[in-house]
Amino acid sequence: MSLFNCTAPGCQQPSVRRKGSCCLCNSHLCVKHLGQDFHHCPDWQVNEQEFDIKYAQAEFVEMTALLSRVNVRALRDRAAALRKVDCTVPELSYDHGSRFSIMGGMNYHIPVNFVDGVTWLCRIRRRNITSTPLAHQNRLILSEAATYRFLSSRTQIPVPEIHDWAIDSPSNPIGVGYILMDKLAGKPLSACDLNNEDRKRVLRQLADVYIALKQHPFQEIGCLLDPDDLSVGPVLEESTIDADGGNLCLLGPFKSALEYRTTSIKHQIELILRGESYTENPVDAYLVHRFILDDVIGSITRNEKGPFFLKHMDDKGDHILVDNDFHIVGIIDWEWAQTTTESEAFAAPLYLLDVNLYYSGSNELSREEVEFASVLSGRNETGLAECVYGGRVAHRFAHCVGGDTGDTESLPNHFMGLRSALRRNKPHETWEQWREGALLKYKKDEGLQNLIQRGSYE
Ligand SMILES: [Zn+2]
Ligand SMILES: [Zn+2]
Repeated sequence: MSLFNCTAPGCQQPSVRRKGSCCLCNSHLCVKHLGQDFHHCPDWQVNEQEFDIKYAQAEFVEMTALLSRVNVRALRDRAAALRKVDCTVPELSYDHGSRFSIMGGMNYHIPVNFVDGVTWLCRIRRRNITSTPLAHQNRLILSEAATYRFLSSRTQIPVPEIHDWAIDSPSNPIGVGYILMDKLAGKPLSACDLNNEDRKRVLRQLADVYIALKQHPFQEIGCLLDPDDLSVGPVLEESTIDADGGNLCLLGPFKSALEYRTTSIKHQIELILRGESYTENPVDAYLVHRFILDDVIGSITRNEKGPFFLKHMDDKGDHILVDNDFHIVGIIDWEWAQTTTESEAFAAPLYLLDVNLYYSGSNELSREEVEFASVLSGRNETGLAECVYGGRVAHRFAHCVGGDTGDTESLPNHFMGLRSALRRNKPHETWEQWREGALLKYKKDEGLQNLIQRGSYE
């Protein structure tokens, strides 16, 4: 049932998710073989320079292989036929120097230049050892294209128009899965310095986006399925997926928040027990997930009856493109978007948070969050304003359950923050005291016993 098995000779243990996939030696590794005794690739935290050199070499091999699969002529002909204007596509070769402008961790963008000055982007997915199975990658392409189609056809939210898409399959003449979309001018909001007036202007436009999304309720929780069928399909978030004998196993779609949250947490607990996630702090993570499942879910979901709303799940600020006057030109990178509960969908986007304060465990709202809530109140959107004022529960919850699985230091702060946001903390109780109590409470729990036993002989 693991997503990938360890590729060390003779080992069939589940590979650790994310950090168990090493681009440098092209391996999936289990907890044991990821250890220093077996795995000798440079660690970026210990030897950054050596890591960077090896990583650049690996990226060159990966990107050269990917770009060689793209049929440039077929892409050019397809785009020209769709728009009925001649265009050119540059010969593709990987250039390390320009990588930041054309690729991210998951995608690479090929420009399609029309003779009348218009530019489209062909967005293709990177493929390396860290990539999820092809069936999942293809679903992401369809879901992202569906989300763009939904937003452009049903709302006024500024997004690039999409012109074509195809999954990665032998019958695809372009050679790789892709989405063809408008290239937008504008720079990422996260790269801008904003004065008070600029910030207010952006918040007013962001309020428009929230109000538009609120007008489109869904009956289920999950990701949009397909551009030709804008219904809700399974959740595609990476930590929720599994594989069984080469078949992709997905969770959802869900008709209720209780079912969605319970299923996600149980799946995460399974990953902890299998040694696929939270491998550096499995006992802490197990206790947190167990406690949330047993003691928190009921109260959180009591007020999450539905309907559900679309949310950009990667809202760190670089997804909003603005012009020089801070007008939003477009909101991009919807590949992980899904429908979710009202309180999660309309909590403040992460880029409005005071990150240092938040990671220190404080639930105090940032100035931007308070301003955003008051903009919404001023528009008579009291419900949306309440979601922003009460957004810490959603933020902390997302970071506790399956979020940042390698960040051992932050889990206690997120968890204590969640309890405090729910007003469930005992006065002055520290994480250590809570942990001690939880160890006692679950001392007969088989899962916990297994993890403790495993830790003692490793
Ligand atoms: Zn390695
Ligand atoms: Zn192994």
